[in-house]
Amino acid sequence: MLRLREISSMELTRAHLDRIEQVEGSVRAFVTVTEDEAMREAEHVDQLRREGAKLGPLAGIPIAIKDVLCTKGIVTTCSSRMLEHFKPPFDATVIKKLRAAHAIMLGKTNMDEFAMGSSTENSAFFPTRNPWDLERVPGGSSGGSAAAVAAGEAMASLGSDTGGSVRQPGALTNTVALKPTYGRVSRFGLIAFASSLDQIGPFTRNAQDAALMMQTISGHDPLDSTAMNETVPDYAAALTGDIKGMRIGVPKEYFVEGIEPGVRASVDAAIKQFEALGAEIGECSLPHTKYGIAAYYIIAPAECSANLARYDGVRYGFSARDTSGDIIAAMSETREQGFGAEVKRRIMLGTYALSSGYYDAYYLKAEKVRTLIKQDFDAAFGRFDALICPTTPGVAFKLGAKTADPYTMYLNDVFTIPANLAGICGVSFPGEFSEGLPVGVQLLGPAFGEPTLLRLVDAFQRVTDYHTRMPEVATKRKSAARKRR
Ligand code: GLN
Repeated sequence: MLRLREISSMELTRAHLDRIEQVEGSVRAFVTVTEDEAMREAEHVDQLRREGAKLGPLAGIPIAIKDVLCTKGIVTTCSSRMLEHFKPPFDATVIKKLRAAHAIMLGKTNMDEFAMGSSTENSAFFPTRNPWDLERVPGGSSGGSAAAVAAGEAMASLGSDTGGSVRQPGALTNTVALKPTYGRVSRFGLIAFASSLDQIGPFTRNAQDAALMMQTISGHDPLDSTAMNETVPDYAAALTGDIKGMRIGVPKEYFVEGIEPGVRASVDAAIKQFEALGAEIGECSLPHTKYGIAAYYIIAPAECSANLARYDGVRYGFSARDTSGDIIAAMSETREQGFGAEVKRRIMLGTYALSSGYYDAYYLKAEKVRTLIKQDFDAAFGRFDALICPTTPGVAFKLGAKTADPYTMYLNDVFTIPANLAGICGVSFPGEFSEGLPVGVQLLGPAFGEPTLLRLVDAFQRVTDYHTRMPEVATKRKSAARKRR
């Protein structure tokens, strides 16, 4: 419609800002709404279109950004007191790429503090609610980005996935949520949590939009030495609708006790659907799956303890001044006040796991387990193009249900963590609902197998309508979104 000039980007952006105004009082997906900048950018792109400029497919499309990605001159909080007033002096590479594509940034979305969590309840500011049921969590840590797309506040968004933070909230909100292969997307300007696991990925409503987002954000970047110099394929061209003869493996370790029956039924139905579309289904085994959570909760905290050492109250971010002149006391006080409970827990666990005498017993062992998990996947992808399993063991849970015991919260990531440990790609997409709530089906692919995953999701979406369903968000309360400071 934009291309045919049936609507303008200003109209489209205004419609999304109105929707934000309407639902934010209850959903609270945004930490910051950049209304003025968004309208200015929309006006600019409309102007370019009128002048006949050649514009890409995302030009004029309103997009939301997880507040873990640096945006030049726009406060980037990581939903932490530590960065509450931090204005980065540069844009993350993915932001630069979206800007170059003339996408419109609507604002920055809420998350678990420093991306640590699975419910967005660890935000230092406020929890985000699931648009499908406001008493439930949207998942996390990219809960704001997921909720914004699900509630129609943005057409797409970006999140980050270290152990499931894109796919898990995607599953809980009926969105398509892709974690790219490690090295596919530059992390320059992504505020680091666990550097050997972090990847940036898109939330969209369908596979086509995910292809457009991936096309824009993928590729080598001299500013991130881990962004691989691997050709970026034409993702949209992969969506042929034809999946005949594609081989899909069903890893038996992902269909264990503890999965809610509604989730199991939804994944089984998706397997049948793929079979009906001509895919070949077979069972496989990933025997080291059960060690995934244990290995992750050593490796991720270890890396986080190193990455978060930079928040010392001296260079940037929050600072608790100590008048006694004692630098150690000032740093301790900064970190005491600036970090929330979960972040402190991770820093302590990680520091412990890395300390002399424990390094071999914990960190080194976890890295060995990681290799075994990767080898499981290598063997499976020798036989299959993709693997299918649930994204999460259950549907969206109630706010507060898992906050008392961190371990029950960690268990949410049992099916998403192995992909990060192995560096492979994965996508969660809407399947059959369970008692009115969305269920995410997960497809895992080998390194750089994104086109395969998107082709499968697209084929599924051509014959199903789950992804087209939108929640009826309560619209009574007024907007509480904070405007840009
Ligand atoms: N929920 C997981 C954790 O708390 C994963 C977070 C993420 O992917 N950023 O670490």
